[in-house]
Amino acid sequence: MIRQGRLFGTNGIRGIANKDLTPEIAIKIAGAIGTFFKHGTLIIGYDARTSGPMLTKAVVAGITATGCDVLLAGMAPTPALQYAVKDRKPDGGVIITASHNPPEYNGIKVLWNDGIELSREQETRIENVFFNEKTSFANWNEIGTAGEALGVINNYVEAIKTHVNVDKIAKKHFHVVIDAANSVAGLTAPRLLRDLGCKVTTINANIDGTFPGRLPEPRPENLSELASVAKAVGADLGVAFDGDADRSVFVDEKGEIHWGDKTFALVEKHFLMENKGEKIVTPVSSSTLVKEIADTYNGELVWTKVGSVTVSHTMKKLKAKLGGEENGGIFYGPHQAVRDGAMATALIMDIMAKTNSKLSKLVGDLPKYFIQKAKVECPEQLKEKVLEKLIEQVKGLNVNTIDGAKIWFKDKSAILIRPSGTEPIYRLYAEAKDAKKAAKLVKEYASKLKKIIKNTRD
Ligand code: MG
Repeated sequence: MIRQGRLFGTNGIRGIANKDLTPEIAIKIAGAIGTFFKHGTLIIGYDARTSGPMLTKAVVAGITATGCDVLLAGMAPTPALQYAVKDRKPDGGVIITASHNPPEYNGIKVLWNDGIELSREQETRIENVFFNEKTSFANWNEIGTAGEALGVINNYVEAIKTHVNVDKIAKKHFHVVIDAANSVAGLTAPRLLRDLGCKVTTINANIDGTFPGRLPEPRPENLSELASVAKAVGADLGVAFDGDADRSVFVDEKGEIHWGDKTFALVEKHFLMENKGEKIVTPVSSSTLVKEIADTYNGELVWTKVGSVTVSHTMKKLKAKLGGEENGGIFYGPHQAVRDGAMATALIMDIMAKTNSKLSKLVGDLPKYFIQKAKVECPEQLKEKVLEKLIEQVKGLNVNTIDGAKIWFKDKSAILIRPSGTEPIYRLYAEAKDAKKAAKLVKEYASKLKKIIKNTRD
């Protein structure tokens, strides 16, 4: 978990419970977090993992030891806790969650007073306290208190409803199948959808921290049960959440699973039809489909580095109202500038109600792209040099180098070449209007990259 003097990864601190992330280390991390917040008040909650209550108690001990007060929200989705922080304005928040990671993992996510995860600069300050043993323990008479944050789930569900046309959706009497991954989506999604007049069928909706139903990452290979149930019961929509319910992936009435770039593009299209000229924030890993929709409906696309925290911070800085990722993360600024699986579900149903259309038709009407992926091995120590050389080679093209190299071509094909953050490889994602072109593009750039790696090594 701790690598090169760093605690935080791209989205909080993560590790295997009781191996990397023991109660002892959680107390120490929490002491550093509490020191950073200087006697402030923090809302604390956790997802459904078996280690959640244990690690939460350790985190509360460490934080209150520094003189910060905590408000315990209990088990709740990440976006519900983020909304509570945004709405109730404490000094920040801490969520015990490992999001989409397998059940043995857990993690610690730290929120600033707007409900958005801390910036890298703020994380560094916490890491400095941790590694330099600079935790500031409070005197016995200044130890923090532990109170409760009541009504977090209720407030969150009610807030989402204010952003969609509840009456119009309710008149449709949609039948929706929810796959809650045996985690916290089960606490909010069925309630929200019933409030929206839907008939709800649930699978994996009992809370069970061993995640017996499926792995908590809502990837198509984990969603076959949802797809077959949605089709079998004749549902209008199926929705699967990840372990902390900030991402949602949808299944149409035919049982077809649609990956997040398509549903984000759908939300983007309808948002831009009503909000001309608005900014759309998305990582360079997103599909060219998102760019084509922005071009067609007069949106201003802002590309960011890969990672949901970067999308949130960019939205905040630019006051952008919509962001999205290809993995099923939709950020709806008028509600909150963070990924929110239940908000995304309400937006999709709003579009279905407004257009009187099935999801298969709405997605089918979007422009089509074919995707080809590849990976090329590259030793860790060569990655940076290789990227520099690659960028030098492609600099005459329409290229964005904010994170790896993303190149767009005139025929609407595109390729992203990006070093993996966790493995000694480069990943290549090509897209084109036909499958052959995408395959050709990925082959061409894989061989260019291999040549560069060979030359850099020699
Ligand atoms: Mg998540």
